Amino acid sequence: MHLKTLTLRGFKSFASATTLHLEPGITCVVGPNGSGKSNVVDALAWVMGEQGAKTLRGGSMSDVIFAGTSSRAPLGRAEVSLTIDNTDGLLPIEYTEVTISRTLFRSGGSEYAINGTSCRLLDIQELLSDTGLGREMHVIVGQGRLDSVLQATPEDRRGFIEEAAGVLKHRRRKEKALRK
Ligand code: ATP
Ligand code: MG
Repeated sequence: MHLKTLTLRGFKSFASATTLHLEPGITCVVGPNGSGKSNVVDALAWVMGEQGAKTLRGGSMSDVIFAGTSSRAPLGRAEVSLTIDNTDGLLPIEYTEVTISRTLFRSGGSEYAINGTSCRLLDIQELLSDTGLGREMHVIVGQGRLDSVLQATPEDRRGFIEEAAGVLKHRRRKEKALRK
């Protein structure tokens, strides 16, 4: 399994549709300060279901939508799509290529899709949950986050282990069932 393409449209500083082609192995993103490197990483976390505005370095979720510049008007929606190569079948779905996408409208609504079919956030979280990717993932360590991982409380540390072991998915399902 590897990430193939990431497409941003109206996400943070990426007003125009921008597609990054990724190859197996290591990808490096280089560029001057403020050019959007961290925004690319934010887009990855976001399309995989990140719900925390702060994790995405914003005050509220709508901060991910292109806010405009002196020469360009703000946009009404942010959209990110991630295509994953699944020829090894690691993702529990019958496709060799899987595209997940997420759209947020400035009016507040959001949409999620797997291979163009609209779905729930939970479906995306569950699809990714045994891969080490996805929400609450610790595979993305942001600038300055290393300290918080090192200084985690025993509860948080247990969370990391549960996520790695694939237990978190079942815990989330249990919590959801108990709320009903
Ligand atoms: P550094 O090397 O300093 O870490 P970087 O390449 O990681 O820089 P980013 O943090 O990805 O840079 O990008 C910051 C830029 O993105 C800022 O110029 C900021 O104004 C812009 N930006 C963030 N959110 C939005 C938004 N919603 N609309 C428009 N521009 C945005
Ligand atoms: Mg940065």
